[in-house]
Amino acid sequence: MSNEATVKLYDQEPYETTFTAKVLSRRPAGEHESARAGHSFAIELDRTLFFPEGGGQTSDTGVLTPKDSRAGKPSADILDVQETDGRIFHYAAIPLEPGAEVTGKINWAHRFDNMQQHTGEHIVSGLAHKLFGLKNVGFHLSDQTVTMDYDKELSAEQIETLEAEANRAIWENRAVTVLFPTPEELTGLDYRSKIDLTEGVRLVRIDGVDLCACCAPHVRTTAEVGLLKIVDYRRYKGGMRLWIVCGNRALANYRMLHDQSAAISEALSAPRDELLEPILKIGRDLDAAKAALIDAQSELLRAEIAGIPADQEHVLIVEPDISNDKMIRSLLNELSEARSGYCFALFNVTDNDLSVSETTEAGKAPAPETPAPTWRYICASAGSDCRAFNEQLKSSFPVRGGGQPTMVQGSVTGSKESLSEWFKAAF
Ligand SMILES: [Zn+2]
Repeated sequence: MSNEATVKLYDQEPYETTFTAKVLSRRPAGEHESARAGHSFAIELDRTLFFPEGGGQTSDTGVLTPKDSRAGKPSADILDVQETDGRIFHYAAIPLEPGAEVTGKINWAHRFDNMQQHTGEHIVSGLAHKLFGLKNVGFHLSDQTVTMDYDKELSAEQIETLEAEANRAIWENRAVTVLFPTPEELTGLDYRSKIDLTEGVRLVRIDGVDLCACCAPHVRTTAEVGLLKIVDYRRYKGGMRLWIVCGNRALANYRMLHDQSAAISEALSAPRDELLEPILKIGRDLDAAKAALIDAQSELLRAEIAGIPADQEHVLIVEPDISNDKMIRSLLNELSEARSGYCFALFNVTDNDLSVSETTEAGKAPAPETPAPTWRYICASAGSDCRAFNEQLKSSFPVRGGGQPTMVQGSVTGSKESLSEWFKAAF
């Protein structure tokens, strides 16, 4: 294993995509070294354009091809690069011979996407610091999301200002440059940093916007970020977490939202920029329709109940389609007032196949695989203890529920026939 340090070409040349290098070492990769499956070898080069995972950002991906690949030496796909104790390891499924000359090529689409997102983050964090005195305390850039954490909360208006100012800084096409100040120069600089370093500090400067210690590749000018949108924000650990999309991710996000609103617009026959009111109206209409259905069901049920003889002590009501607990409860309260027995309602049936049990011909057993339905139930009584009723029900059917002497409720599993027969036999 070599002790030479790898030259970080990406530090100075963020726009280069190919390079040549010499293999310094290769070794079998440890089990937990690389998160990517099938990466058996850790390869060290004398120089590299591959940015290793770090500073909240995923590593570059690409390929390493041996110079003598025409002699049958295969290329190695690189899906992960890690920096450990100052050494950079490229993870591959195949080994490359130490001393071999290789050509490296990074996946530019992936790299440029990371550069757009990362510079976008510096613009927002720099402005959040400048405008509102916020400190960036966390950053994560994955292939799907970009999140930034700040030490203080922001209001919705401040978030809007931040987004507007970030986009203004993008349109102003400000230069993004990298500095390696000496320790003396560093003491005179006011820059953002998560850790205190005095030597080998790499600073990324965005003219007029930000100066921040950072190890990652950035775009040359802010205009290359294209567009920046804060897509979400939440309170987080006493501060705030922001989600952003930049450049091509912002375009993809806009396309997704545009396609959705176009489809909704077509379905509702409403203009795309006036979708909210028609959707809210559907919600209001649905609420009104539900209320009207409950009224109609309640009226129907009252008419049925009116036909029950006044001297009938125990009453069973079976209403599989009614789902409103409140309505059933108030009807049972009325019904049980003048009776000493139990008023038992089975309603809101689920997981059932009533059609099977109801259409089964007499004498023919239902198919054994037919599951018994589950009902909501309420039992009310003015003169008997409903808890005793509940115990009796529990001894014959699977039941979840309980309550007071005047009313019990819960769910019970059983066919309409078996529950009706049980009630008739028991009371
Ligand atoms: Zn950075």
